[in-house]
Amino acid sequence: MEYRNYMEELVMETLDQILAYSKKYCNCERCRLDTISLALNNLPPMYCVSDVGRAYKKLKAVEIQFKTDIVSEIAKALKIVKKYPRHKKKTQTLKATRQHHTSSPKRKKN
Ligand SMILES: [Zn+2]
Repeated sequence: MEYRNYMEELVMETLDQILAYSKKYCNCERCRLDTISLALNNLPPMYCVSDVGRAYKKLKAVEIQFKTDIVSEIAKALKIVKKYPRHKKKTQTLKATRQHHTSSPKRKKN
């Protein structure tokens, strides 16, 4: 037996759904974890002892009750993370490497 925070699972699940259709947010691990942490700080925790049979029902009940709050907290968190990303600049380097090929091999000396 162990205890789990159902809210945590719901936030992760909802974030995945949002990131799946909205491509404007970074979905690297760092940004995802930052978004989840920020959202969870503003949502009530839902700790329960895990009970395999009942876990799913409980999760659904919490989801129905808090879905709107979860979505709006994730949306807020995504905006903050997008504005102040703490990942290393990986996405930008992809574009930058393209331009290296255009450097013309001109000779300055004869
Ligand atoms: Zn990122």
